[in-house]
Order: sequence, then structure tokens, then C-alpha cells
Amino acid sequence: MSSQSICCKLCFKTFTTYQKLLIHERNRHLYNKTIPHFYSLPQPSSEQMFYYINSFIVLIKKKLGFSRHAVGKKRFSIDTFPENVFVYLFKNEEKFKYSPARHKYQCSFEGSVGAARLKEIFHYDHWSFRQDPFTNTKGYVLLENYENTYQVKFSWSQMTLLENNREFMLGRMTCNFITDSGEFQENNEEQILTSNNKQKIPEKPVEGKFHYILPRPPLNIINQHSKFSSNPTAHGSSTKK
Ligand SMILES: [Zn+2]
Repeated sequence: MSSQSICCKLCFKTFTTYQKLLIHERNRHLYNKTIPHFYSLPQPSSEQMFYYINSFIVLIKKKLGFSRHAVGKKRFSIDTFPENVFVYLFKNEEKFKYSPARHKYQCSFEGSVGAARLKEIFHYDHWSFRQDPFTNTKGYVLLENYENTYQVKFSWSQMTLLENNREFMLGRMTCNFITDSGEFQENNEEQILTSNNKQKIPEKPVEGKFHYILPRPPLNIINQHSKFSSNPTAHGSSTKK
């Protein structure tokens, strides 16, 4: 092995060690969004995107609970997360960044603005909480309270596994966030429901207000932009007579 120089893929400056390249990247390209190998990342199908978005939602919700134990820093990861899905999900976000030297992506969302943006990316308004209808308690992803704002961070990096002298490259996606729990007001939930389809929903039993983990309508309905009229039971398409 000769002592080859290592090149920054962003500005083509050369370095004698990997360590020096890392320092250079941190100093010069900390918020880099350019992906030099972007051409080699095919655009994922919408089915593939929704498969992973649904995985996010389910895995986030699994970390939410109603007891004191369910409060604090949480993390989950998916070890076989395709690089192109991560890139196409987050590449246009303000806080998206890429390190070519580490082959690592990061994207974070903060405060109520971040929460709203994730609703759009997930195509799902109820991604950040789950409710216990019997005790009126809610476990939720904490992004903002009266004291502070908090982040949801997604990162992707490559891992190499060795088995039988063969190398397997896996893409690991990790998500970090903070959870909290508390009581919820039934009235607020009622307002959220009614403001979306602008019609009075009659008083429902408490169980009707419970948001199941994935009440996502089929894809073809999402594509028609009618997120809330997908319930096959009656009132979705009823108009004033
Ligand atoms: Zn550079």
C-alpha cells in the first residue's frame, strides 16, 4: 500500500490522512447538502417510500406510552434502510446535511415548525402521539413546550458486516427523539377532527376519538388528496342538502 493522498469529494483538496480530511470537512463543509454520487441513487417508488414512512410511524409510536417510564430520550434504528429512500425523503429539508468522508446523512426537525413539516413528509397528522381513551392520557413526541424546543433527528450511515469472508454493506437509519406524556383534553381532539372536514361530527363515544397506530387509507386514496374522506362508513362524502 502506498501512502496515497485522500481527496475531499466536495472541493478536491487533498489530505495525507483520513483524520485530516474529517477535520477539513467539519471546518469547511459542515452544512453540506451536495451528494457527489447522487446520480447513482435511483428515485424510490411511492410504495417504497410509504413502506418506510409507515415503519417510522409504527416504530415511533411503539416508543410512546402513558406512564412515567415512557418519558425521556428514545431511539430506534432500522438496519436495512435504503440510502436512496433516506435521501429522497429528506434531501430538500433545511436541516439536511451530508458528510462524504463518513458517507453519513443527517436531518433534524425542531419545534412546532418541525412537527408540522413531519406531518407533511409522513402524509399523516397523528404521527407524534398515541392516546389511551380510557384514562385521557396521551404519550407524545416532545418538540416544543413552554420552556424549550426539542428535536427529532434522523441519521443514516453505512455499516459493514463480515460473514464467511464476505462483506455485506448495510444502511442503518437511526432516529432520536424525546417523549413525554400527559392528559389530553377531549375538546381539542374534537376540534382537530371537525376543522378538517368542516362539518359537525355528532358526539361520539370516547373510543371513537382514539387514533389507531396506522389509520392510513390505501395509497390510491392518498394520491387523490383526500386524506380524511377515506373512511368507508358513510359521512365522508355527504354534503349539505
Ligand atoms: Zn473540501
